[in-house]
Amino acid sequence: MSLKKIIVLLWAATLPIVGVWSRKPKKVDPEPPVIEETDSIDLEENDDFEELTEGMPVGVLSRLVGDTLFVNCSQEELPRHLIVMSADGECLYRLTPTMLWGDTSSVHPADSIYPLWMNTRVNPYQTPVDSLEDSIPVSLKGFVYPLKNLTHVTSNFGFRRYRFHYGTDVKVQVGDSLRASWDGQVRIVGWDPRGYGYYVLIRHDNGLETIYGHLSRPLVEENERIYAGEVLGLGGNTGRSTGSHLHYEIRYLGNAIDPATLVDFDRGALRVPEDYLITKKGTFKHNEEVKQLKMAQYHKVRQGDTLSGIARRYHTSVRTLCRLNHIKETSILRLGQKIRVR
Ligand SMILES: [Zn+2]
Repeated sequence: MSLKKIIVLLWAATLPIVGVWSRKPKKVDPEPPVIEETDSIDLEENDDFEELTEGMPVGVLSRLVGDTLFVNCSQEELPRHLIVMSADGECLYRLTPTMLWGDTSSVHPADSIYPLWMNTRVNPYQTPVDSLEDSIPVSLKGFVYPLKNLTHVTSNFGFRRYRFHYGTDVKVQVGDSLRASWDGQVRIVGWDPRGYGYYVLIRHDNGLETIYGHLSRPLVEENERIYAGEVLGLGGNTGRSTGSHLHYEIRYLGNAIDPATLVDFDRGALRVPEDYLITKKGTFKHNEEVKQLKMAQYHKVRQGDTLSGIARRYHTSVRTLCRLNHIKETSILRLGQKIRVR
């Protein structure tokens, strides 16, 4: 048997749940899928599949048909490399077709989009928004919200005083399981004491990259294949963080997208259609503001300074200074106060 790579698909039978009389849906076994039986193999009796069946409880394997493995047990019973999200909280699971074996280090998801694969830098691509196509189709199919329970957003994407916050912060408890949003491959498992803390960066097959920051513990390894819904680490409070939360970023070619444009954090679901079109004007509308902030200049207030004096000095107007600093013409300046002049 020379099957080196096995694509596994566990059929999620979508049986109609009838039962007006019973509130709790009955647990049903997956219906045998309609598939031509070309090459049925009993996995337990075949040594070639030892790696695949490692950690599998005895007696739960059913059979391999073609490139599809049918398993009938609960997620908790499956070894980690087979764990995926549950379809409906019952015992039916669907595994996305994915190579489980073999060397995947040379083939990375979204290779046609990304020029390189690197385990160190979050954005090594040097691809500014301006150089992107005007619109880029991306499939959000199979999205899984990173948290099992819904919590509140503690900080949004956008400006925070003098810097830009490139993600959405969501409340978590230390130790909460965090899940991968789509299928992909782990690019970075990092430690950034002044920023992300422990973090995981995943490059997804759909071309997006997601970052999960402030973890108490990452549970994946670099270059590892990961599936939508699979636990990648535990929530925490490491790095630049006050109070345990998940810092969640979505990027395309290194460029941050406001996660709230794609994800409804109140519902833990997509807020846009699965066939999404990234657009320069829409998806990256914050980019113009970011550019302006990068060009911003400040003046430190000294003895005797007045708004009109500062305006004259920087060839601008009092009105502009008021707008940039959210102050009034009559506002009193403090010594040492930083006034944005550009
Ligand atoms: Zn954050």
